[in-house]
Amino acid sequence: MGKIILTGDRPTGKLHLGHYVGSVKMRKVLQEDKTYSEIYILLADLQALTDNATNPDKIRKNIIECALDYLACGLDPNRLSICVQSSLPALYELYMYYLNLVSTKRLERNPTVKSEMQMRGFDQEGLPVGFYTYPISQAADITAFCATTVPVGEDQDPMIEQAREIVEKFNNIYGNVLTLPETMHPSSEISKRLPGLDGKSKMSKSLGNAIYLSDESEVLKEKIMKRMFTDPTHLQINDPGKIDGNMVFTYLDIFATDKDFKELLPEYNNLNEMKEHYKRGGLGDVKCKNFLYNILNNFLTPIREKRHYWESHISDIYDIIQDGTKKALIKTNNTLDKVKEAMKIDYFNDKSKITKEWEEWLASNRMD
Ligand code: ATP
Ligand code: MG
Repeated sequence: MGKIILTGDRPTGKLHLGHYVGSVKMRKVLQEDKTYSEIYILLADLQALTDNATNPDKIRKNIIECALDYLACGLDPNRLSICVQSSLPALYELYMYYLNLVSTKRLERNPTVKSEMQMRGFDQEGLPVGFYTYPISQAADITAFCATTVPVGEDQDPMIEQAREIVEKFNNIYGNVLTLPETMHPSSEISKRLPGLDGKSKMSKSLGNAIYLSDESEVLKEKIMKRMFTDPTHLQINDPGKIDGNMVFTYLDIFATDKDFKELLPEYNNLNEMKEHYKRGGLGDVKCKNFLYNILNNFLTPIREKRHYWESHISDIYDIIQDGTKKALIKTNNTLDKVKEAMKIDYFNDKSKITKEWEEWLASNRMD
């Protein structure tokens, strides 16, 4: 049997460059790889509600926005199933069972949840229980699909670690039912956690520091020219400049190719030459930013165009998600059946089984 992939996104906004380099790009490669017999992309609306409970419209709208972004990027619904978390009851049933396998102490140790709590002000305002326990819900998602492989950004490492612990504990207690998942990261270090425009933290929908895959060219230009963090000590063109922590060079590292230099900035053969010039002094930020803008705009133009096509075919999007969810329903219910049997809570599956067991108990009691 081939390997199985589960990955996904919280439908809390449109997808940004961080999603592309951290996850979507890998999905495109994996959908061409026959090692993987099943690929599921989960629109994690229940997880999104854990910190957006008062804003259901936002989640509903972003289910469609995310699906539009997937198709715009070239994810192929014939090869992978796009499915909606809340329409897959097995996921929240498993979550309920897994809640008993994790201690509150263990949840408190999760560094990603800690920083996300702080970011959302939950450390002061009171923490929704659903948010606190979302790593357990994520373990339910992963195991329900019997995922062997979970392609994600680096911020998800603690979640996969938690899922692996749950699998090991479950299998120890109830028998070997669940599949132990492994993470898969992009090979480039920066792509594992792409920083945002501000250069302070990872690019994130929640932090307002993102370049969206659907940003129109004027918006892209404005973000790069006016908001992208460079080197604050590089005031005059002739001042020496810093590359480390300079977002223009961080993004060029990922997106610029030698071909781009030939076509757009032929005075340098490659990025190293450009960086050396910037470090010595004599190369201005505006020129660097213009180059980056042109590269990103060339990259985003076909994505934008495809998105515009799908935006006028929403009923097809609906069918694609519904179809993917139907497949996911079968898959996840199948896992749930095995889990319930292993946990001995499959009461109504087979009348004769429980009556026979009862007779055996009676017989053994009589012998006592
Ligand atoms: P939110 O702020 O709502 O949590 P987000 O921007 O963190 O949104 P998610 O939906 O939580 O996005 O993440 C979806 C996937 O994208 C995950 O696999 C995550 O690791 C990856 N990802 C998100 N942001 C980045 C980033 N800046 N760099 C690399 N990967 C990322
Ligand atoms: Mg996130």
